[in-house]
Order: sequence, then C-alpha cells, then structure tokens
Amino acid sequence: MRIKTMALAAVLISGGLTAGAQSNYDAKFKSYPTYSGEDLELTVNSTGTHWRLWSPEAQEAVVNIYDHGKGGEPIQTLPMEFHKENGTWTTSVPEQLYGKFYTFKIKFDGKWLNETPGVWAKAVGVNGKRAAIIDFAQTNPEGWENDKGPQVDNFSDVIVYEMHHRDLSMHPSSGVTNKGKFLALTEEGTISPSGEKTGIDHLKELGVTHVHILPSYDYNSVDEANLQENIYNWGYDPQNYNAPEGSYSTNPENPASRVAEMKEMVKALHDNGIGVIMDVVYNHTAENDGSNFSLTAPGYYYRHREDGSYSDASGCGNETASDLQQMQDYIVNSVKYWADEYHIDGFRFDLMAIHDTETMNRVAKELKEINPSIFVYGEGWTAGDSPLAVERRALKENVSKMENIAVFSDDLRDAVKGHYTDASDRGFATGKPGLEETVKIGIVAATAHPQVDYSKGNNSKFAYASSPEMIVNYISCHDDLCLTDKLKHSMKDEPEENQLAAAKLAQTIVFTSQGTPFMFAGEEIFRDKKGVHNSYNRPDSINAIDWANKSKYRDQFDYYKGLVALRKAHPAFRMTSTDDIAKHLVFDKIDSSKTPNLISYSLKDNANGDSWKEIKVVFNGASESQGVNVPKGDWKIVAMDGKIDPQAGLGNAKGGKMTLAPYSALILAKE
Ligand code: CA
Repeated sequence: MRIKTMALAAVLISGGLTAGAQSNYDAKFKSYPTYSGEDLELTVNSTGTHWRLWSPEAQEAVVNIYDHGKGGEPIQTLPMEFHKENGTWTTSVPEQLYGKFYTFKIKFDGKWLNETPGVWAKAVGVNGKRAAIIDFAQTNPEGWENDKGPQVDNFSDVIVYEMHHRDLSMHPSSGVTNKGKFLALTEEGTISPSGEKTGIDHLKELGVTHVHILPSYDYNSVDEANLQENIYNWGYDPQNYNAPEGSYSTNPENPASRVAEMKEMVKALHDNGIGVIMDVVYNHTAENDGSNFSLTAPGYYYRHREDGSYSDASGCGNETASDLQQMQDYIVNSVKYWADEYHIDGFRFDLMAIHDTETMNRVAKELKEINPSIFVYGEGWTAGDSPLAVERRALKENVSKMENIAVFSDDLRDAVKGHYTDASDRGFATGKPGLEETVKIGIVAATAHPQVDYSKGNNSKFAYASSPEMIVNYISCHDDLCLTDKLKHSMKDEPEENQLAAAKLAQTIVFTSQGTPFMFAGEEIFRDKKGVHNSYNRPDSINAIDWANKSKYRDQFDYYKGLVALRKAHPAFRMTSTDDIAKHLVFDKIDSSKTPNLISYSLKDNANGDSWKEIKVVFNGASESQGVNVPKGDWKIVAMDGKIDPQAGLGNAKGGKMTLAPYSALILAKE
C-alpha cells in the first residue's frame, strides 16, 4: 500500500530520531485489563443473544438493537454491566435475535460517543455502520465442510498472483456476469470476444497456485448504497476487519450475502486447486477518532507521540499498537477467524513493520496450528517513523527473528526493472549496468552465499534471510508503475517488441530465483494502467484488465505459462535451505565491468531432488546480443530468445560459445 507519496528509504534504515521512545501517553494503556475470549462482542446460543464489549475506561455502555442495517430508531436499548477484572461490559436477551442489527455506544470522559458496530462485527449492514446478527451455518456453500485449500509443503512452492476483484472482471471483454464481485471467480467457461479464457479459467490455464486478493474485509471508501456510481478503490482503508466488503457482494443490504458469496469464491478456487491469500491491513484504520477502535476503547489501539497526537508510521494518519496486549490478541484472533470461517490460505500483511516481531511470530504460529499450509508474508517496511523500537519492528532486516514469515524483496524488484521512485530509471533487465550483484541477492533469496558480495547491494547490505522461504521475489504489484507501464516509460525510445522481451526477461528472473515468486495480475497479457502509478481510487478505465490483450499478446501469455510450468516441475528453483543454495547454486565468473548486464549460473547435482542433473540459467539484460561460454555437453534448450518449453524443449545444444538476444534469458538443462 503506497497511497500517499512518501520518502521511504530513510525511515526504513535509520528508524528516525524518535524511534523506540515509548510515550508516557501510551504507557498508561499497558495497565489496562485485557480480554480475548471467543465471546467478545456477540454470541448467539441456546440461551439467547449475548454481548460482551471490551472498554476498560467507559463510564457507561449500551447496546442498541435495530430492525434494519440503516435508518430507523432502535427497537430496544440495553444497558450493559461492567466487569472490572477484564474491562468488559455485558448484557443478554433470552431470544436468538437473528435478522436484527445492533450497535454499541459508550460514555467516555462524561460524553456519549457515536454508535459503533464494535471491532468484532462479523456481519454488517450496508456500509458497515451496524453489526448484523446472522446464522453463519446458513452461509456455507454446499460441501463447505469438506472444503480445503491446496496443501503447501514449502512456501517456495507457492506461486502468487496478486489481483483486485474489479481489475480482473470489470472490463466488458471479461465475459464475466458478476463483474467486480466475489462471484466473478465462481464463473467457469468465461471467454473474451476472441474466445480466450478469462476469469478463473484463465488462472487455471496460467497455472498459479494462489491468488492474493487485495483488501476484501469491509473498507470505508466505496459507498455500498450507491454501487451504480462504480467507485473504485484498492481498499486500504479498513473499517470492519472481520466482515467482507459489501461492494463485492451482489447485495450489500443483506448482511449474509457478502459472507456467503465470499465463501463461494473461496470454494470455487479451492475446487480448482487454487489457494486464497488475503491482503490484511491491521496497521492503520481509515478514521482516527471516528474508527471503531476509537469508539470502543478511545486511544488504546493506536500509538501516539509525546503530545498525545496519533503517530503515523502508515502515512495514513495513524498507526495501530500491536505491542499492546489487546491489539496483539486482536490481530492474532482476527486472522485465525478468517482461516477458520473462510478457509483462507494465507495472509499478506500491509506495512508489516508497523507490527512487532513478537506479534507476527504469534500470528504465524497460531495459524499453523489451524492449517500448516497457511502462508504469511508482508511488507517489511513502514511508510513513516514509528515510536516502536527499530529492533522490535517486523522489518525486512529483522525477518530472521521471525519464524514462518516472509518479506517482499525490494532488492530484486528495484534492481531488475529500475527504481520505483523514478519512472525513467532502468534496471538490469532493461540495460542499466552495475546492478548485477543486487540481482544476485534476489536470485539467492537474500541468503548468505559465498559468491554474493552484499556490500555491493543497492537496498540491503547483508544476507537478511536465514532461509529462502523468508523471501517473496517480485518485480511489480499494485503499487507504483506496473511492469508494463514501467517498461513503456523507461524504454519509450525502443519498439514494443523490446519492451515485451524485457518483460519476459524480468519475469524469468523472478520465476527462476529462489524464494517465492509473486506476480501482478494481467502482466502475463501485457496489461497496463495507462501510466498511472498510484491507481488506488482511479476508475475502472485505468484499472480494469482489457482481455483483448490476451489474443494480442498470446505469445507473452504462453511464455508466462511456460515459466509457471517450469517452476512447478523443477524443485531446483524451489530450494528450502541456505546451505542447499550455497552448495547447489554456482555463479559463473563474469567480469561485470567488461560485460555488464550478464548473469550466468548453474543449479547443480540434481538440486533439491530435481530430475535434471544440471540447469544453466543465463540472463542478458543488455540492449545488444551477448555471448556466454557454456561447458561442452548434451544440453536441452529450455528457454531461448523469448521462447520457452520446459517439457519438450526447443532443441539441443552442445555448449561452447552461445549467443543471447538482447533482453533475453537462456535456460539449458542436462538430464
Ligand atoms: Ca465497505
């Protein structure tokens, strides 16, 4: 998430001047009693409907019950009783109030605050202003009890496809009926006007293992009561963390609809062997004093500066306080809820370094107890300074202090395609010399390797990952110029065929590198966003994928598909330990000062149990052809000159001096 413009690098490394200074203002919150029982806020059982709100400093609290999700007066207002030992307020009625809605209201500092659905609303009315009482058992699709995501033995086996619900299906060319909805991904057999597969069939054809859906909890920016306005937003403005977003449902007025339809989406993907990863944004909320956190326990859930103002490591006006017990429990229990109720297979933490490593370790550990295949990764940086001490932050540089958590490698990203802050800047794959060593850091997944000189790294100066499973390699995502736009801009003097070649090369580097590969939806068909780098609130005309591209750039798609197939068939690209990489991945000696933009390495001795004895991988990021010396032998050509065929191969080679076309990769295999 990068919605506001900000200087990231400086705060990342230094942590700034105030880092680690716990403000006196925040210190008082540590003395609050906490409560993390499963009955927080709402329980419906045989004895009736029960509420329990955590609000240690409220002077009074009530529950308002409504007939509707919006409008009208409360049909009942129930006073709540305080329990000092755990800071909660409770009340009950003997009936099961399915179909009704409710809000809490607390008196704080002598004043009644605004109504709130609370922080644990699992179903909500339109626009998330009131919590809804529904029977969750009624929202399960048929066969849900046997529903299961793909089994993941090692995180390096995962291939992530990052998508926004509207991007994938809003364009008329998608052929999808439920455009921009959860249900879009349940529609099989959809095609573009020229007959190319779209939607879920497209994902299957490409072969990715997991989709990473942009924020799908209930967010603030889209008016669910006026969907005909077709407002677009990424959704990094959280409102209700434990209910799905209403604008992705076919009927936001019916609280069960968003729940049932999101489950149907998950089930459809699971039925096709595809896992579902949720983008989660616990690091900040859309509102400050008006958020559900502030209206239930004023001040508590956020970090503050000495003067009591909100600190802002998110760049969005506030930052949450995972280092406080009730907030840590909240994050842990919230992801566990999504894993249990919605069978979610992974979580991508936005601005993860706003959270502390202790919280993230708990997240991964407790999720693993539910399902060992759950993959957790995040942005190992903040967007501004934080009062949290640098050594406690879940930073990229601290990833080795965490277990079963991965971070994005901005090293590979910026080195391959050029820096994200400068649209014109080129990278290794587009002819800029001097980035070879940083690309190698990505290739070895930021693990210690005898042939990689970290002092020459552009972003990181040390081997920060103690295992390749801690690294997600990528060259683009929803943030910044997407790959196509970056190439169109930085290579504007060159023909499109060169841009297409560079895209293939760049993605080949991602898919052959150790760690977990991650790609942005639509790049396999050369999707662009009309040069808009921060498209979070731009219309569908900027964001929606035009599926006509799939026939126009079919060759590009086939190449990406080949990369996915190559990686899935060959464990050599998916090693699971630093030692294995150091032993089996051997770089060829190339003098970058004489032949820049050339990297050559071998994966040797049936690495990680691979059927191929040796794999030779060579990248030429230069605008001219370059030669490379390949040892003599019987090689199968797997990829060359922008073509790839991991199964049958493209022919044979005897080694010796081989030539790579400009912006291209050569992959050879020895049986
Ligand atoms: Ca919403």
